[in-house]
Formats: sequence, structure tokens, C-alpha cells
Amino acid sequence: MTELERKHERAPVPSEWTYASAPEARDIVTLQERYGHYVGGEWVEPRETYTTISPASEEPLAEVGQATPEEVTAAVAAARDAFENGWSDISPAERAKYLFRIARILQERSHEFAVLESLNGGKPIKESRDVDLPLSAAHFFYYAGWADKLEYAFPNRRPRPIGVAGQIIPWNFPLLMLAWKIAPALAAGNTVVLKPAETTPLSALLFCDVLRQAELPPGVVNIVTGDGRTGAEIVKAESVDKIAFTGSTEVGKAIQRELAGTGKKLTLELGGKAANIIFDDAALDQAVEGIINGIYFNQGHVCCAGSRLLVQESIYEPVVEKLKRRLTTLRVGDPLDKNTDVGAINSKQQLDKIQELVATGEEEGAEIYQPPCRLPEKGYWFAPTVFTNVAQSYRIAQEEIFGPVLSILTFRTPEEAVEKANNTPYGLSAGVWTEKGSRILWMAERLRAGVVWANTYNRFDPSSPFGGYKESGFGREGGRHGLEPYLDLDGSQALSP
Ligand code: NDP
Repeated sequence: MTELERKHERAPVPSEWTYASAPEARDIVTLQERYGHYVGGEWVEPRETYTTISPASEEPLAEVGQATPEEVTAAVAAARDAFENGWSDISPAERAKYLFRIARILQERSHEFAVLESLNGGKPIKESRDVDLPLSAAHFFYYAGWADKLEYAFPNRRPRPIGVAGQIIPWNFPLLMLAWKIAPALAAGNTVVLKPAETTPLSALLFCDVLRQAELPPGVVNIVTGDGRTGAEIVKAESVDKIAFTGSTEVGKAIQRELAGTGKKLTLELGGKAANIIFDDAALDQAVEGIINGIYFNQGHVCCAGSRLLVQESIYEPVVEKLKRRLTTLRVGDPLDKNTDVGAINSKQQLDKIQELVATGEEEGAEIYQPPCRLPEKGYWFAPTVFTNVAQSYRIAQEEIFGPVLSILTFRTPEEAVEKANNTPYGLSAGVWTEKGSRILWMAERLRAGVVWANTYNRFDPSSPFGGYKESGFGREGGRHGLEPYLDLDGSQALSP
């Protein structure tokens, strides 16, 4: 018997065939005890601070600045100075060089960023590693390519930068949303003041070190942290020429009111309540994977999540049965475990909101299903949830839950599917599952949604514009369209979305 055979003979037989834990090491990330604001290429000591935590363990991670109005004013002044004294005049190819550098450094440091993103935001490491980081780098690469080709992107329209962009981002994809905002703004020749969400500031603060490595001129990107008050100060700041906001419809509306009549440019990427529509000829197993990806990816903290499942009546039972079976295989737990499918809810506040809406679903008469799973005691957790027996009028079918909660409704004909899918104040995304290409086109023409995925879901590419209709906001991010809000195009007609 060889040494290897002897070792195998002694190896214990597992009593249970479940995944062993596979935790990602945390030591690639070095956290500071306290972070300031990044203004004019330097760290500025904050006057006030708050503690940012890990939502999976409630463990404090660092003290972070809560920017005061004066600190926001200083950041905007640094951005204005950088815009007027250098950045807007350097050659576009030179601007591209910085963006390429940032993209390369993000790739090189992607492991570190992925661990930090999961630690501070609660999302599974396999998602931050395989989705957030590659897509963030891809956005910088993509817009680096456009920086010296703006004349070709907008022929005969003399594209020029607009000035200082104020950018306010949410907590569901902290680094990716930063990339969606900063990359097109810089490619177009603008400077930036960005505020990450209160609960997830750390990857934006680490990004400042990427800017240092890339030797981006001081003041071109300024990052201030804080809660909604800081965001409101950026919106009010006189010297800001454009606001780009991603977040709730409620705050988006408040920002629109604040900016009315000021002449400042505004783009809003707000909530959604997307329909994922499964026809009876669809490949059911693939469709079930699409449903799972559509709603449980990133704990359902996704503006374009497929949170309303519309199933054709004739296949309702097999779909629900397959879905429930698949749900029992989802692993919920430690975001830093490489086997985890569903991580922690981002904050106590968001968990309360999910719990409140789920309670209304039960009160209104929907039937709840949650697979057996043991949730960690510390931190913020919510089991993957499916509601059947849902009426269109229920709050769980109307409101954005922004959590791992799916509401299932049925339809009989394609016309009815379209009517139900469009019966929402939102219009960000939709999914269609069918073998028939002609039906996909027929549906896509009628669905009032910025993105319609066919036989897939939650696919993103920097070259593809993303944005909503109705209460999901206006303006597009990604693609050539994503440059437009950052450019003065001589008053000529804008590209239609
Ligand atoms: P918010 O809209 O409050 O947050 C988005 C960003 O705006 C954050 O950076 C926030 O700061 C900032 N902000 C808050 N108030 C103001 C203000 N008055 N002026 C300017 N900026 C402001 O979303 P929440 O985090 O409160 O989430 C609430 C709900 O919104 C969620 O349950 C979800 O339904 C939806 N949502 C949708 C998102 C999407 O991508 N469509 C993303 C996030 C949330 P801070 O975080 O510090 O408060």
C-alpha cells in the first residue's frame, strides 16, 4: 500500500455531505482606524465621524468622516479649481491614460477590493470577486477608450466637458456604482465630488489610493463621506454643474425638486419592480436559474432585480416546485465564505424594511415559503423567500422590497403578461423566457423597461446603456449614451435613449 492509499484509508468518512466552510482570508485588507475626506488629492481630517460596520457580524470596522457643509464646499472648490486649471485642457489622449491606469490598478488590486467590498457591504465574496470587480475595471477600460474619440461619438456637435459633477451613490454595488459614475465623467473631461453611501464607504476610500497610484492630478476626483445630509449639501452646492444620483425614488424626487430651475444637469437611476416573465415553452431548468439569479443575487439589493415572477398558468406548478427545490440548495451565511450564495442584509434599517413588507404580504393573504436554513445569530440576515398566491394590489407586488423576496403571479396570454408587467410605477428592467425569438421581440417592443433581458437575467456590460422609465428615473449610464450627461453638446438634440 502506498503512503497516499494509507492516508486515504485513515481519512474519516464525512457524516454529512455538505460544503465545508471555505473562508477567504481577510488579511489582504489593511483597514485604518480612521478615515478622512479625500479633497484636492490629500486626506483631510474630518470634524465629525461615525463608525462603519460589517453587516454580517456588526463588528466595527473603522471611523469615517461625516462631512459638514464646509467640508463639502471645500471638496467642490477643489474640483472646480482642478477643472479650470488643467484637467479640462489636457489632451483627451492624456485623460485616457489616467483611466487606463485606474482600470489596470483595479485589476491588480481586485482581490483586496473584493474582500473589502464583502466585509463592509455583506455581499458574497464570489459576487464581489466575479462581478463587482471585473465590471468596475471594465467600466474604466471602456470609457478610457472613448476619451479621445468624443468627436466620433457625437459628430458635428463639438462635445465639451460641463464642469464639476456631484455624484451620489447607494450601498448595493459601492465600487461598481463609483465606476459607473466616475469613468464617464472623467472621460468627458469633468471633475468629480462623489459621496458613497453611509453604510459602505470603505471601497470608495480605498479607491483614493488607486487615484494616488495612478497619479491623477489633485482635485480631479474628491471623495467625501457621510449620510444623506452630505448628499443634500452636494446637490445644493452652487459650483456643481451636474448631479448624478442612484438610490431611492423618494430621494431622487427630492433632488429633482431642489434642482428645478437651476439649469443644472441631472440624471436619476432609481428603484424598480421588474417582471421576470416565463412562458410555457421556456427551458424550465434554465429559467429557474434565471429566477434565482434575478432575485437572490446580492440578497435582492438590486434595482433591476426580477422581484415579480410572472409564470404562464399552464406551467405554474412545475416552476414553483423546481424553484422551491432550488431554494433549499442556496447557502446563506458568511459573505467571506467562497461557498456562500446569499450574504448579509446591508443594514439594520434595510432589514427592518424587508421584514415590514414581508409581514404585509402575509397579512394581505399571500402564502410564504422559506427554505429551512440556519441564519447566523449576529448581523443582519433574511432567508430567501418566495410568496405565492399574490394579488397585483398587494404591497409586495407593488413596492420595491430590495431584499431576497420574490412574489409570484400568473398570466395566460402574452397580452396579459405585458399588461401585468407594465402595471407598476417603475420601468427599469424585465426578463422574458421563451424559445420563440419572435415572441421575445414582440414582448420587448411592448415592455416599458429600460432593459429587457431574453433567456438570461442581470447581465451587464459597460458598452450597454442602462436606465429607466417613469419612476425608475431618467438618463442612461453605460455605453455611448452614458457620456452624454457629462457633455455640453452645443445645445443640439440629445441622443434619445
Ligand atoms: P437613499 O436613496 O436614501 O440612498 C442613496 C444615496 O443617496 C446614499 O448615498 C444616501 O446617503 C444619499 N442620500 C440620502 N438622502 C439624501 C438627500 N436628501 N440628498 C442627497 N443624497 C441623499 O436610499 P436608502 O439607502 O435609504 O434605501 C432606501 C430604499 O431605496 C431601499 O430600500 C431601496 O428600495 C431603494 N434603493 C434603491 C437603489 C437603486 O439602485 N435603485 C439603491 C439604494 C436604495 P446615505 O446612504 O448616507 O443615507
